[in-house]
Amino acid sequence: MNKPIPKKTHDAIVIGVGIAGVAAIKALKNNGLTNFLAIDQASAPAMGTSGHDHALCHPYIGRGASRLQRLSMAAFNEARKVWASYWMGEGVFHLSREVESFDKKLMSERLLSQGFNHLNTLPLLAEEAKEIVGVAVAGTFFPHGGWLSLKKICEETFDDLLEHQKQMSTAVQKIERTGGYWYVYDSNNQLLGVSHRVFLTNGLGVRPILSQLGVELPLKPVRGQLSTFGYSEASSWAQHQPKVALSGKAYCLPPKRLEDNSYSWTVGSTYDENNDDLNPWASSNDENLELIQEMLNSNLNQHELKIMDSFVGIRCVANDRLPIMGPVKGHPGLYALTALGSRGVMWSALASQLFTDHLAEEMRHSAFFDARFLAGARLLATGLSDDLVSALLPARFLAGVSNSKPILPSA
Ligand SMILES: Cc1cc2nc3c(=O)[nH]c(=O)nc-3n(C[C@H](O)[C@H](O)[C@H](O)COP(=O)(O)OP(=O)(O)OC[C@H]3O[C@@H](n4cnc5c(N)ncnc54)[C@H](O)[C@@H]3O)c2cc1C
Repeated sequence: MNKPIPKKTHDAIVIGVGIAGVAAIKALKNNGLTNFLAIDQASAPAMGTSGHDHALCHPYIGRGASRLQRLSMAAFNEARKVWASYWMGEGVFHLSREVESFDKKLMSERLLSQGFNHLNTLPLLAEEAKEIVGVAVAGTFFPHGGWLSLKKICEETFDDLLEHQKQMSTAVQKIERTGGYWYVYDSNNQLLGVSHRVFLTNGLGVRPILSQLGVELPLKPVRGQLSTFGYSEASSWAQHQPKVALSGKAYCLPPKRLEDNSYSWTVGSTYDENNDDLNPWASSNDENLELIQEMLNSNLNQHELKIMDSFVGIRCVANDRLPIMGPVKGHPGLYALTALGSRGVMWSALASQLFTDHLAEEMRHSAFFDARFLAGARLLATGLSDDLVSALLPARFLAGVSNSKPILPSA
């Protein structure tokens, strides 16, 4: 069906204003594209999984230089740049799962072989860890690791938008492409906007929208709960506090001293696959406590802790556990950013940089390159090789996909 050329169009429409939407908005702005419309079904930004203040970030250490390990290293470095003004904390200590057999020399060699160096990672024996990070368990210290508030980033980005750039309390039901434009509709089949470009950044909601276009993504919900506990300064917990954020079987932030000299301590987070219940569960608070005690090898009295607050969010996870980002093959001008899993900080930053480069290339050639994610020279030089970038594409789930390079029209 040929539709008349619409009178009013946008440079882009972004569906979903969590951290993924913010990443897309940043990429658009980086390319001078400001006539965009950001739509969210909620009445305010970060009402979904990005609604929390305690998202930890450090690179992943694998047994070898796996795809995940190489991607996470590049993404971590981008996260330090992209979210620089929001970064908090003075390092993250990753506790070894093999406490008994932890071999510092072997770990150093493994880290070096994965591209780390002595400035950005420090393997520590239990007695060294006690001194430096406050817990007597062996592990690896990332001095540049930290955490940030995803909620704050989303809210500040949203506040900076002009009125005509945002539309809240509006759920997108369907998109369709006609005459080179994407038409975006709500559940009453009302047209919300028209654009050459649409970014799907709405978590699990990406799946039904793409499914209507014949693109099936294997996404699942994974419920997670963070617990904030309180304890008094007289408590035995106050004598055994971590000085930095910790990660491992569970994760936690360093306890925060409150005005009345008591402490609040945020610990997370449970991982319930195929569950999307947003109600806080007492059992999840218990589980967080058990996990952290196990991780710290601690037998301190649990009754000295009082639950003060919980945050529940539903992660969106792909079946290969990697994020999904990039153009959607066969659908020019359509881009997805979802399945950020438990690594929203680093994957959103990487996506923002990759989309910035990709859009610049598309604009330079006045063409859409839907079969490939075009990283620029700087990102390629950081080790983001073609095979790594291709591993992120939605097309990896489609049958018969070719990763061949696009033939760029001459400039
Ligand atoms: C307990 C917990 C702890 C976590 N800890 C960390 C951590 O330590 N470090 C880390 O990096 N990550 C962490 N994460 C993961 C991180 O929070 C997520 O990866 C990230 O928030 C996902 O962002 P998003 O923008 O993809 O999704 P969301 O924040 O859920 O945003 C999607 C948006 O789309 C909107 N939407 C959905 N459907 C539609 C539609 N049809 N039309 C319009 N709008 C729509 C929603 O309202 C929502 O605002 C944690 C997650 C949980 C649950």
